[in-house]
Amino acid sequence: MDLVLVAIHLEISPRAVPLGPAMLASVLRRSHGDALAVRVLDLYLDQDPQACADRILEGDPAWVGFSMYLWNRDRTLAIARLLKARRPDLTVFAGGAEATADPDGVLADPAVDLVLPGEGEELILVAVDGFLRGLAPAAIQAALRPGPVADLATLPSPYLDGTLDPSRYTGQLWELSRGCPFKCDFCFESRGRSGVRRIPMARLEAELRLFEARGVDQIFVLDPTFNFDRVRAKAVLRLIAATAPGIHFFFEIRSEFVDRELAGLFAALRCTLQIGLQSAHDAVLRNINRRIAPAAFASRILLLHRAGATYGFDLIYGLPGDSLEGFRQSLDYALGLAPNHLDLFCLSVLPGTRLHETASGFGLEHLAENPYLVTGSPGFPPEDLARAARLARACDRFYNAGKAVPWFAIVLGALELPASGLLEAFADHLEARPGPDPQEVQRDFLMALFADRGAPAMGTVAADLVTWFGCAARLTEAVPGPEPAGPRLHPDACLASFRHDPQVLLEQLAAGITELEDLSYVVPAGACRAVIHLREGEPRLRRLLPEEAEALDGLAGGRPVPEAPLAALAGEGLVLGLGAGAQAPRRGLGVRV
Ligand code: SF4
Repeated sequence: MDLVLVAIHLEISPRAVPLGPAMLASVLRRSHGDALAVRVLDLYLDQDPQACADRILEGDPAWVGFSMYLWNRDRTLAIARLLKARRPDLTVFAGGAEATADPDGVLADPAVDLVLPGEGEELILVAVDGFLRGLAPAAIQAALRPGPVADLATLPSPYLDGTLDPSRYTGQLWELSRGCPFKCDFCFESRGRSGVRRIPMARLEAELRLFEARGVDQIFVLDPTFNFDRVRAKAVLRLIAATAPGIHFFFEIRSEFVDRELAGLFAALRCTLQIGLQSAHDAVLRNINRRIAPAAFASRILLLHRAGATYGFDLIYGLPGDSLEGFRQSLDYALGLAPNHLDLFCLSVLPGTRLHETASGFGLEHLAENPYLVTGSPGFPPEDLARAARLARACDRFYNAGKAVPWFAIVLGALELPASGLLEAFADHLEARPGPDPQEVQRDFLMALFADRGAPAMGTVAADLVTWFGCAARLTEAVPGPEPAGPRLHPDACLASFRHDPQVLLEQLAAGITELEDLSYVVPAGACRAVIHLREGEPRLRRLLPEEAEALDGLAGGRPVPEAPLAALAGEGLVLGLGAGAQAPRRGLGVRV
């Protein structure tokens, strides 16, 4: 073994794909063929560093390269030190975003011999040439000429040449372009070469066909402003619709380049859009070289909303010129646009960015080390940053994990609260009564909140909305897993409890009744069990007889149950595996399984 290229992932996830190392391996494979043995290795942050070093040293490599990011820098250096202690002759090098942002800092660690800053495909060829010629790392470092790859068409595809097997990963990273036309001060891209370089469409089409043929389920598109070139974006979306319509795609887009046609193309695909809002205040965004016109932003989002596209936003707290109150207003603005999810981050002042140079001028204080988080500013003292962080956790739990988008405005309207006010109340509740199930905590919180206001019936209707929409979202997003044996509820179904008549509730919603107070008058109260299930992708409700509910509770609890009460449900395809349960099958039951 000559070379090991290591990716240390945050965790096992669909995004944990070693695309960067594989790109380098592809280039080396093309240039050196079998004369050079290259291995791409996946490791994870929760693995023991000694065990990681063992894995790396399998095959006795001569050179080891790490893909280094902000969040794996410390672990990477710890493993590099272990490697050097065991194999002082080993050459260790680092590339990736963190090595690019702070090459001198990384190189200052004695365990690192060489740094490849920036795009690595051309640098790795120079480095390996130097290794093969026996040059000292310092000489190789001096010979490197970092810079972007001018023409991405010259790079091989690690998917198409077999370096990266899509079947090995649950998701894929799909690179469409490099570079960004914008220059946001907090972002590394602001320091890159201006302009966007794109992968040719012919290669994208071939990769898509491969993904489809290998049964890929989800793809994360690497293009920070996918729709900046609307013509090309539409061409890519049409290509996806024709080639890989069953795959779920995740895009990062800019709101200002959304038009009606693009919104329709997104909505016709299985995809999720992420939009960097960062703040709703133009005066704050100007401090980081961004702009927003809130009314124009909202009108573009409305196009996506009306088309039925799924979108989410990013917001940052701790921005120069911002305050807790300003952040709350941004949160209220963002949630008022009904995003599917809202991701809230504390500002990081990353070395190598323009913000790193301007931070002191704004009075921003921040950690000197990874993760470089803001710790205070004139408008955002430490105690307010802590409150913003608490708000962020509450939003993630209540809105994102709680799948709140379909009913959030209904509840908010009844409470006459701003979104930030509701989330702050939820943060209090969460501290007092945490629980593992987001929907259970939501129901408890809402029923307590409405009860405190003397409107318990509105609280129980709100709890039923949480149940219906939460189950429906869970079923729609569920990834098929291994099927257990024996009697079981269909995997596209879940058991639910309601406090009001769920059929009447759904009829009223379908008729356009969305005031919680009205619903609490017209929907009869009364405990009810039901199965929520998917039919042709749409959620449906099936009320349960008491004996059916009891039998399903028994199944859920792993207890032996009589089969007779489940016969009708099996006949409807909602219960599977009848006749293979803990009890001996009854002869002649006559249900379809
Ligand atoms: S934040 Fe996004 S739009 Fe701004 S420079 Fe970075 S990649 Fe470009």
